[in-house]
Amino acid sequence: MQKKVYIESYGCQMNVSDSEVVASILAKDGYTAVKSAEEADLVLLNTCSIREKAEYTVMQRINEMNSLKARNKGLKVGVLGCMAERMREDLLEKKKVVDLVVGPDAYRTLPDLLEKVGTGQKAVNVLLSREETYGEIVPVRLDTNGVTAFVTIMRGCDNMCAFCVVPFTRGRERSRDPQSIVDECRDLVAKGYKEVTLLGQNVDSYKWRPTPSASDAGADSTRSVDPSGRPANDTTGATDFADLLELVALACPTLRIRYSTSHPKDMTDKVLVVMAKYANICKYIHLPVQSGSSAVLKRMNRGYDRAWYLDRMASIRRHMPDCSISTDIIAGFCGETEEEHQETLSLMNEVGYDMAFMFKYSERPKTLAARKYPDDVPEEVKGRRLAEIIEAQKLSSAKRMASYVGQDHEVLIEGVSKRSAENMFGRNSQNSIVIVARDLGGLELRPGMFVHARITSSTAGSLQGEVTGIVDEAFASA
Ligand code: SAM
Ligand code: SF4
Repeated sequence: MQKKVYIESYGCQMNVSDSEVVASILAKDGYTAVKSAEEADLVLLNTCSIREKAEYTVMQRINEMNSLKARNKGLKVGVLGCMAERMREDLLEKKKVVDLVVGPDAYRTLPDLLEKVGTGQKAVNVLLSREETYGEIVPVRLDTNGVTAFVTIMRGCDNMCAFCVVPFTRGRERSRDPQSIVDECRDLVAKGYKEVTLLGQNVDSYKWRPTPSASDAGADSTRSVDPSGRPANDTTGATDFADLLELVALACPTLRIRYSTSHPKDMTDKVLVVMAKYANICKYIHLPVQSGSSAVLKRMNRGYDRAWYLDRMASIRRHMPDCSISTDIIAGFCGETEEEHQETLSLMNEVGYDMAFMFKYSERPKTLAARKYPDDVPEEVKGRRLAEIIEAQKLSSAKRMASYVGQDHEVLIEGVSKRSAENMFGRNSQNSIVIVARDLGGLELRPGMFVHARITSSTAGSLQGEVTGIVDEAFASA
């Protein structure tokens, strides 16, 4: 009998991507992915620990599983991802409904663990690895629009930002073999996908060094990437992120390429040069600043100061005047004074971000900040500062979006607009949402089409455009 799994992803894009790896591993074990927990024999919650609120949401969802289990006696429930490592004891001892706990580096063991669960026992594997990249696993795309997809290029993080739990929950940084990344992108093109986002916690520290066995793979004329992953002119033997971007841009010239996340301390001009060179690499960079105050950045252990960050901004604008920039900001980090908060607002004003993800600081167990600094900014002050940051960003987004009015943008259509079935939505290279009419003189726009659109109006969150033509050959100007 067909076994059915429902996977629910919380948190970042990396978790969405991991769920697709899990679906692939389980497909080999006879599972089909279904679209609701009610239809499933196995429910897997792929969890996030980044803030306390994220964990609370998952805990509520785990409680809901009790009533599902009461209705479906055979149902098994598993917890995957960041909370697995952090809370395995709590989950297995206090949440009786949980049968299975599996950390982000242990997904290959899922079939064995499920066999154990099948005999009525609880199963757990939260071991972190220094090598696991799931490199050769072809993900099963879940909830896909058939147009855009994520490709994980590295796992873990070695940075130890003082506020962040990721290095504890996802382990040491490791990069994936570039050949397997290029192969996955090519496979996506063959399946009709038009855009890929390369994912890592700090893509700028991507580094692949060939192992002797990888080099021994020998000359294979069907491979456009040297088996070692090295561009032909490289003498150091390593592939860095700029090299990888170029490899993907050349191997998949019709595919739009995005990536996330850059780290200000590691972002090189070499990456910017490659971005500027290839029309199929989107002119959009997510560069989390976290704070505009050098003193706060030092306490956060981010490895750069305000002047360094602003220099990176200037370099982006020099290389790509049309590049859009988004960021992450934390309000009320340990010891943050009113002046330091004002420095964040002034930096936002100076940069003029297109978009930002903004959070109140949430203390996370084991982190450097939890051990070293009191979480001393009162909750209402954090709330007020966050509201001011959000307000500043609204103004900045509205200004940036208004600056696009009158321009011609290439838009990749992703789907039908949520507000009106008469409209479609897509994104320009800068990652802003563009709404256009579905009907183009009798021709109906479909997801996956590239169109030229003249931007006619804007809000802080989206652009309205008029389609002036279909793009015959995407990125012909590359
Ligand atoms: N690796 C990325 C980087 O360094 O920019 C970001 C990773 S994290 C999943 C996404 C964002 O969550 C961070 O940029 C930060 O703004 C926020 N974040 C992380 N830990 C946090 C905490 N303890 N409290 C509030 N926000 C946090
Ligand atoms: Fe966390 Fe810093 Fe690593 Fe990003 S770079 S995942 S914020 S430790």
